[in-house]
Amino acid sequence: MQTQIYRNFIEGAWCDAASGETFNAINPTDGTVIGSVAKSDRIDAQGAITAARKGHKILDAMTAWERAALCNAVADQIQSRRDSLAEILSAEQGKPLISEAYGEVDAAATGFREAAELIKWMEGEYIPVETPNVRAVSYRKARGVYAVITPWNFPINIPVEYLAPCLAAGNGVVWVPAPSTSACASALMECIVEAGVPEGAINLVHGPGDVAGDEIVVNPGTDGIGFTGSPVTGGIISKRGAGKPMLLELGGNGPVIVLNDADLDKAADAAAFGCFFNAGQVCAATGRILTTRDTHEALAQKLKERAEAIKLGNPLDKNTTMGPLNNSSVVAKVAQHVADGLDRGGKLLTGGRVAAEHGSELFYAPTVIDDVPVDSLLNTAETFGPVAPIVVCEDDEDLIRTANAAGHGLAAGVFTRDLSRAFNFGERIQAGLVNINNPSCYWELHLPFGGAPGKNSGIGRLGGKHTLRAVTEIKTITFNIG
Ligand code: NAD
Repeated sequence: MQTQIYRNFIEGAWCDAASGETFNAINPTDGTVIGSVAKSDRIDAQGAITAARKGHKILDAMTAWERAALCNAVADQIQSRRDSLAEILSAEQGKPLISEAYGEVDAAATGFREAAELIKWMEGEYIPVETPNVRAVSYRKARGVYAVITPWNFPINIPVEYLAPCLAAGNGVVWVPAPSTSACASALMECIVEAGVPEGAINLVHGPGDVAGDEIVVNPGTDGIGFTGSPVTGGIISKRGAGKPMLLELGGNGPVIVLNDADLDKAADAAAFGCFFNAGQVCAATGRILTTRDTHEALAQKLKERAEAIKLGNPLDKNTTMGPLNNSSVVAKVAQHVADGLDRGGKLLTGGRVAAEHGSELFYAPTVIDDVPVDSLLNTAETFGPVAPIVVCEDDEDLIRTANAAGHGLAAGVFTRDLSRAFNFGERIQAGLVNINNPSCYWELHLPFGGAPGKNSGIGRLGGKHTLRAVTEIKTITFNIG
């Protein structure tokens, strides 16, 4: 792959950072440089905010049908560049090309098509009022300029979760993507540009989140914030952007709970998928597997077999089913959590080490640890890596208590054949999404997705019409016709 230059896209033009500074886009498989990226600062972000205001005005003057056509045009571009998008996604993010990268690209195209469909069905209300001769209507309206900040784990699809509904609804956008997947962001931006989206409607500003990202959060020129990332950064953004409407999609530590009447093979397949898909770098990943003493040995053995069947390697190789982790801080956190789990008495069944023989220090062997104590970081915090920790509980009440004791509450899976147990767990697990007989990470783009109240997993709901609602405001107009 040739070394490239990844510029900002502001007010309809590709441009360098005002400072002229750059940083490198790196391939995590072997540490090679993919390209050089504009290292933007506050000046660049401010220019993009001004451009997005103009872009919003253009979009606002269009009909929903015209904006839907733009969304469909972006989806067409994504589909026509399916191969090159999947390749850069695999090369820069590290996910396997065949088993994962193509799927993410397809989901991005679907995201734009769904926004195109849904915006046409954004109905308002005709509201009865007490006063004679007065009529009242209300409808949803774009807020203006949206600040969108996205992570590196799904660097094509997560941005689309905001960009598509913002475009469909008529918001101008300034988008600051994660620096370690800047090339993916540029590749998606090219689709938006080639689709003929109006000047200023969507602006891309590469660079450090705590500078360019912070600017779009605090600047009074943005009217709303869409953020997906860690709870720590989400906490900073909620303070720095206080007063603005926010959609915050933060971390998870999703349990998969396997009850003793479950089909253990199906449960093991699903839990392994939840733990190892995208090398565990998924907010809704299966961060821990909770089960009872009567099933844990058989389940642990099945998980070990599945972990050992995974093919680590270059993600561009068609046989690879797990690539490297995206960056060194992820590896450090995984290593810390595994060491903590083993120190506290967990039993290592497989993995538990960096697997640099596959190309770089960012490869980590799929890991299964049995009998992880409840006070381990693996059970209490988000690991975000390819680890399957099994926590043994006493009974159903203990399973629910242990699931709910963690600080996060994003997504969970429950395996049982018993309908009443399924309902009991579904209703009592504190997570925005509970999947019965599916892994914690099962989700479709139009389903509501977000953190449970009182948990450190975010505010609001993404997904289909829910995102459209989140990026719009209700406007009410009354008419005195007397
Ligand atoms: P992160 O919070 O470190 O970074 C996310 C983004 O925020 C990046 O673009 C970064 O540059 C930017 N950023 C950093 N500091 C900032 C600041 N002060 N102001 C504004 N922006 C700033 O998270 P990450 O490591 O990139 O992503 C992993 C995390 O994201 C995990 O916790 C994961 O669970 C979460 N996540 C959540 C969802 C969801 O839908 N709930 C989806 C994917 C990932």
